[in-house]
Amino acid sequence: MVKARYKCNSCATEYPISTEITLCQKCNHPDSSDWSSTPLQGVLDVIYDYDQLKKNFCSFHPLDLMPVEREHFSYLARDEFTPLWRPNNLQKKLGLPKLLVKDDSTLPTGSLKDRASMLVAAFAQREGVDKIVLASTGNAASSMAGIGAAHGLEVIIFLPKAAPAAKLIQSRQYGASVNLVDGNYDLAYQQSYNYYQEHGGICRNTAMNPLTIEGKKSVSLEIYRQLDNQPPDVVFVPTGDGAIISGVYKGFVDLLQLGLIQKIPTIYAAQAKGSAAIHHAFNSGNFSPITASTVADSISVDVPKGGARALSYLQMFGGKTVVVSDQEILEAQHLLASTSGIFTEPAGAASLAGLLQVKQSISPTDSVVLLATGHGLKDPIPPFSLRKGILD
Ligand SMILES: *Cc1c(COP(=O)(O)O)cnc(C)c1O
Repeated sequence: MVKARYKCNSCATEYPISTEITLCQKCNHPDSSDWSSTPLQGVLDVIYDYDQLKKNFCSFHPLDLMPVEREHFSYLARDEFTPLWRPNNLQKKLGLPKLLVKDDSTLPTGSLKDRASMLVAAFAQREGVDKIVLASTGNAASSMAGIGAAHGLEVIIFLPKAAPAAKLIQSRQYGASVNLVDGNYDLAYQQSYNYYQEHGGICRNTAMNPLTIEGKKSVSLEIYRQLDNQPPDVVFVPTGDGAIISGVYKGFVDLLQLGLIQKIPTIYAAQAKGSAAIHHAFNSGNFSPITASTVADSISVDVPKGGARALSYLQMFGGKTVVVSDQEILEAQHLLASTSGIFTEPAGAASLAGLLQVKQSISPTDSVVLLATGHGLKDPIPPFSLRKGILD
């Protein structure tokens, strides 16, 4: 494995990768931060010695580009990618012959969060740490619970009371300790951090733990591999906290650093209208507090913890944002399911809803990838038309 280290994305200070360091100590020491009102500053990136990597690069597996050796992973020990579907009917309907869907609902616990949990669990195993603490809107919890179970880890979860029942049940089935928080995700985030400070272990809170973004980047490496070592032109990413989109960028940036691709795809952050903090900051230049409200619980967040990181990637690489209503999300969810057989939860359908909204700016020759980030049965709701009582 190639040597890796942490580097602050705002002041460039470097740190060794350890269980304690999570945010840049100069830009944002966790003890002094108030994360109920602003995105985290001083988020760390994992960086590698790219020249050394280039020299030894012959066969390329996504796990070769991770800061933990392959032997510590219990999943993905083989070439196990999630499918990149070719949705023929949807392609025809939209006039986009190169439209593809990356279906991460086929990961062990049914959401893209497993990519982060796998790296965190492998890291914990290597470091001999047996406890993981985290806050979640639901999927990160069930993911860490499941992947943690496979690694024999104790997983302690802080979850808002309003989280979908399926995700709570999943976490309990996997044997995690679940603390239901009488408040929103932001409060759960604070309580989980307090717990971590008192009891130790590894804190897997998204954005705060750099390994969550690093783990999620494998989705881009896989897409590149599945497109015969080419990047797509456009990627749509459901976005709440902003960690997935940063992970997607990080994967392509690594490929760029290695000279394997020449340009970063155009990446759209697809946000729900009622939870669009990153979109607003992208347009106005700064983050202002919102009270999130959307049917897509996995992208419902008042203060996007990874917002600063996501924003800097979007600005650096010509990314775009698109905002979609709950109705558009639910209609896109049904369209995807009924034309392609891919049933994704509402948050996962934000990517198709986003594409439908900006379709005029997409060329039929573009290769377009939609991320379907989580399984529909995790948050089952009937199609919008039926909810309204209209049988069409
Ligand atoms: C977590 C999650 C998202 C959003 O990811 P962020 O990193 O919060 O932007 C989207 N879809 C699903 C299914 C998720 O679980």
